[in-house]
Amino acid sequence: MENAVFENTYSFAAEMDASDKLKNFRDKFYIPRQADGEDVIYLTGNSLGLQPKTVRGYIEQELKDWEKLGVEGHFNAKNPWMPYHEFVTKQMANVVGARAVETVVMNSLTVNLHLLLVSFYRPTNERHKIVIEANAFPSDQYAVQSQIKFHGFDFKDSLIELKPRDNETLLRIEDIEETLLENGDSIALILLGGVNYYTGQAFDIKRIVEIGHKIGALVGFDLAHAAGNIELNLHDWNADFAAWCSYKYLNSGPGGIAGIFVHERHAENFDLPRFTGWWGHDKETRFLMGSDFVPIKGAEGWQLSNPPILQLAVLKASLDIFEEAGMGNLFEKSKRLTGFLEYLLGEIDDERISVITPSNTEERGCQLSIRVRNADKNLFKAISDKGVIADWREPDVIRVAPVPLYNSFTDVFKFAEILKNCLD
Ligand SMILES: *Cc1c(COP(=O)(O)O)cnc(C)c1O
Repeated sequence: MENAVFENTYSFAAEMDASDKLKNFRDKFYIPRQADGEDVIYLTGNSLGLQPKTVRGYIEQELKDWEKLGVEGHFNAKNPWMPYHEFVTKQMANVVGARAVETVVMNSLTVNLHLLLVSFYRPTNERHKIVIEANAFPSDQYAVQSQIKFHGFDFKDSLIELKPRDNETLLRIEDIEETLLENGDSIALILLGGVNYYTGQAFDIKRIVEIGHKIGALVGFDLAHAAGNIELNLHDWNADFAAWCSYKYLNSGPGGIAGIFVHERHAENFDLPRFTGWWGHDKETRFLMGSDFVPIKGAEGWQLSNPPILQLAVLKASLDIFEEAGMGNLFEKSKRLTGFLEYLLGEIDDERISVITPSNTEERGCQLSIRVRNADKNLFKAISDKGVIADWREPDVIRVAPVPLYNSFTDVFKFAEILKNCLD
């Protein structure tokens, strides 16, 4: 794919669309419109995925069953609510390369990070450090700092932040390795993003897990920007745990229900401390309402509450579309689409902009982060006025993410033209 030959013309983009085997999937989503009725150029599927047109029907089914059945919908609804979360387990597991026993959907992302840290961050006086990215998403930083504090440690001593070299923007795997080996004995946990939300850099999860385990640490990932965006094989890569939200690439709607992964080797490790609730209790005996907690084996044992069915319905609508499209097809198109965007940005000969995301397709997903010289936000305002929905991240970056399910090659072409014109 790196050798793909692109042309900088509208007709080339239109031909790419015509021969795209996923081209009909765009029509399964509502694309927001501009005032004149034209589709916007939506490049923020990394922030909030668009609404599948099937969502309303999926929700209506549950509203109807609630209307007609009341509490009996738990067992008698068309999609019984009692096991409803199980209906998405396999599809979600497939998105992250996990086994069913390793995956469950529940809560939201930061909540899940805390629940997993309760189990997988167990500091001792010798081993108490957590390794994160220096520019990790703020919620992850807050979660980790508060967990360190909760255990009676000071995050100034117990937090290692991985920083790029001076005058560089991306983290190098050899520098990550060096930091991990240097601090080996004192590191309890490594918690990195799968794809950094700011730079779009995808980390070598397999390698990081290998190094982490070599030094005796546990290794977890925040896959908010990775799930549904890059190929993941969490089981084979041996990660201990992971958490992700589903409203970004997975289109489950604002605040949608999130996912977790706990590797199978921890499935029956019931000695791990955990915060518990009735939904994590053995299903056979849950309704005997006994006072002793008996966890379900695997990820399901981390559930606390009975889940929000309407949110699950939205997620189901979206995951059905992912299944129909096929993850392999999506990743293949994604590489081509983002490759085209990278090519077109390269054709804009203007030193005010540069792409900070890795050019190696193994080290990124669909997002490209464009650095704007002198942090001139007027450029962002100008493209927004022309119908582009992208996002501006302080201090100086425009993030754009053409997603393979609903973005087209002509979207990408039009975006590049608008950017070029706004620079002129
Ligand atoms: C989007 C995102 C979040 C958001 O957390 P919520 O709990 O869903 O509000 C957290 N961490 C990362 C890395 C993110 O990209």
